[in-house]
Amino acid sequence: MSDPIQILKDFKPAKEFFVGIDSDGCIFDSMEIKHKECFTPMFIKHFHLQAVSKYARECWDFVNLYSKTRGANRFPALVRAVKLLGERPQVNARSVKMPDMTALKEWIARESKLSNATLNAEVKNGNTGLAQVKVWSDAVNAAVADIVHGVPPFPLVRESLQKLSARADAMCISQTPAEALKREWTEHGIDQFVKVIAGQEMGTKTEHIKFAAASKYAPEKILMIGDAPGDFNAAKKNGALFFPIVPGHEEDSWKRLHDEALDRFFASNYVGAYEIGLVKEFDASLPENPHW
Ligand SMILES: [Mg+2]
Repeated sequence: MSDPIQILKDFKPAKEFFVGIDSDGCIFDSMEIKHKECFTPMFIKHFHLQAVSKYARECWDFVNLYSKTRGANRFPALVRAVKLLGERPQVNARSVKMPDMTALKEWIARESKLSNATLNAEVKNGNTGLAQVKVWSDAVNAAVADIVHGVPPFPLVRESLQKLSARADAMCISQTPAEALKREWTEHGIDQFVKVIAGQEMGTKTEHIKFAAASKYAPEKILMIGDAPGDFNAAKKNGALFFPIVPGHEEDSWKRLHDEALDRFFASNYVGAYEIGLVKEFDASLPENPHW
């Protein structure tokens, strides 16, 4: 199997600007339905957390929706959710045992592409410590394919993609499996606006920007649009600019991008006070630690 990252390395600029765009929670209002109807029920079912389902749900949602790790790759997110859950006194009081995350932590430490394909290969090659993680991850994918339909892009997404793709090479930059991304972008006819749809198979978001854009465009001509601190970090590790879709204020954010920020970006009038102001507001929207 050829390395999927090669597509990014081989990518050639056709325009002066590059715009990377996250998908879940940024393009689509899909975070709540994916986590609450798909990830959380499968977390409770496949890690046998029925006796503490209320707390398991709170932990999963906090990690994936309502804190600074929002939008993280599912595998590190699983480690964090299990850790937070295991620390809760209600869980200890019920003597519920947390799943052993040793094999998963070890895999995360050495694997740069945390995807279903690399997980499947590990389990096939005899890594039994990851077997239950695979069962859970496959069940999540099946639930997403079964349940997540008819979730349209936020208002002004289509108009913004149209506007930005006229002057920039645009790319979807996500940690969702590519198969789901392609299905969702095609369902709503917005795949035509991006040159590549990069999912978890092509590495981290930082790597996506690094291989597709970092050495090919001037840093102030690369913009990442996202709804999570991970998107911000992916931009900044590559010296690129960031535009936040602020969780809870997504429609206002898209309006601001469409009416104001894109014009500033293309006019080289984005970096500095303007970007700092946006990032400050974004940073205040998600807490680091849980309230419990
Ligand atoms: Mg996102």
